[in-house]
Amino acid sequence: MSINNHRLPCCEIVTIGSELLLGQIEDTNSTFLARELASIGVDVRFRTAVGDQAEEMAEVLKRALERCDLVVTTGGLGPTKDDLTRQVVATVAGVELEFRQELMEQIEEVFRRYGYRMPETNRSQAFVPKGSEAIENPVGTAPGFIKEVKGRPIICLPGVPKELKYLWQNAVGPWIRGRFGLEGHLVASRVLKVAGIGESKVDTIIGDLIRHSENPKIGLLASPGEIKIRITAEAKDSGQARSLIQPIEQEIRSRLGNKVFGVDDDTLEGVVDFLLGQHNLSLTILETFTAGMVAQRLHAIPCHAIEKSLVIPHKEGISKDFGKGLEVPSLEVTLELARRLMPAGQDGVGLAVVGFPRREAEVFFVDACAAAVGEGVEKAYSWHMGGDLTTVQQRGSVIGLNTLRLALVDLGCSK
Ligand code: ATP
Ligand code: MG
Repeated sequence: MSINNHRLPCCEIVTIGSELLLGQIEDTNSTFLARELASIGVDVRFRTAVGDQAEEMAEVLKRALERCDLVVTTGGLGPTKDDLTRQVVATVAGVELEFRQELMEQIEEVFRRYGYRMPETNRSQAFVPKGSEAIENPVGTAPGFIKEVKGRPIICLPGVPKELKYLWQNAVGPWIRGRFGLEGHLVASRVLKVAGIGESKVDTIIGDLIRHSENPKIGLLASPGEIKIRITAEAKDSGQARSLIQPIEQEIRSRLGNKVFGVDDDTLEGVVDFLLGQHNLSLTILETFTAGMVAQRLHAIPCHAIEKSLVIPHKEGISKDFGKGLEVPSLEVTLELARRLMPAGQDGVGLAVVGFPRREAEVFFVDACAAAVGEGVEKAYSWHMGGDLTTVQQRGSVIGLNTLRLALVDLGCSK
């Protein structure tokens, strides 16, 4: 829905180049454009990739013009024979190509700047479909252009990502806002990050909010062990966006409590590092099946609280290093391991993430336990899971870090 009470313009992104279809390059232009278009209030409905074939390009463009208010293309604006965008757009619009002296001079200037004389082939880049609005490109040789076809603009931009971004920021974004009356229109998001609860449980708890959400809209995105709740608002300015988002955020937080560990760019390891620092605690980690991922994620920050981290993959190793009779994994034993890990003589926390996966065909199953123990605090959690090895390890490391986070949060409350 629109804050201006009219329908948002809808758009199709068309990326051009056979190398996209062959999987030789990643289509990062589409991702960039999709994000930028959404942020100014354009409703991206389709993303299409097409090779350097004139007929197929024309077919795609015609279809895009039928179903959308705006078409944005990238690629195919170079000087070589397989760069057909100019010609195909002219054909679709039913016009000829026309030469633009000012574009020619600008292209020559780019070559001069780099100490070259412009090759004759680049002359083709100074042609645009008759009646187009040209977009000068000071960071490359391929100018863009905008051609209106029956009141619907096709905006053609170069394929080189750096040039595309420059033209977007300096010309195309503002042009679209003006053309579709989107000034004073902004789309802002806030992401709440959740751990220690599954996607379907989150859906049960806040499903009514998700299903009734219009502005702001609420969406869920799950990755192993972690869920993102995105609250997206359309507003006139950032102040209005904030006041739309805030009550929903508060409601979600009141329902999910300490399952929400952070917002936007926060990471679980970042939050843990912050809490360890706040309480001036050191940390010792023991992991079995997580391949050191808990420690790795913390080291990558880097977290200076880590005193020591161990990876002991087998049960035998645990009883050898920590004493016989420790029949892992059970919650009690994992708690005992975490207790023995606590650095002596100083404020510290021990974290044990323990489990021994068994493999059945391609699937790994594990009964796992995580425990965090420090002065005046202990937290433990056990769970069962199955999946491919990486997923099992990732989820294990998330649950391990989350157990530690919850222990540290409790410590904050008890102090
Ligand atoms: P040039 O004048 O450089 O030829 P162009 O507009 O003709 O520009 P292409 O030839 O289609 O663009 O692509 C130039 C380069 O830009 C490609 O080799 C590729 O590296 C990159 N590129 C093209 N399309 C995309 C895309 N959709 N996503 C990411 N990169 C792309
Ligand atoms: Mg090219």
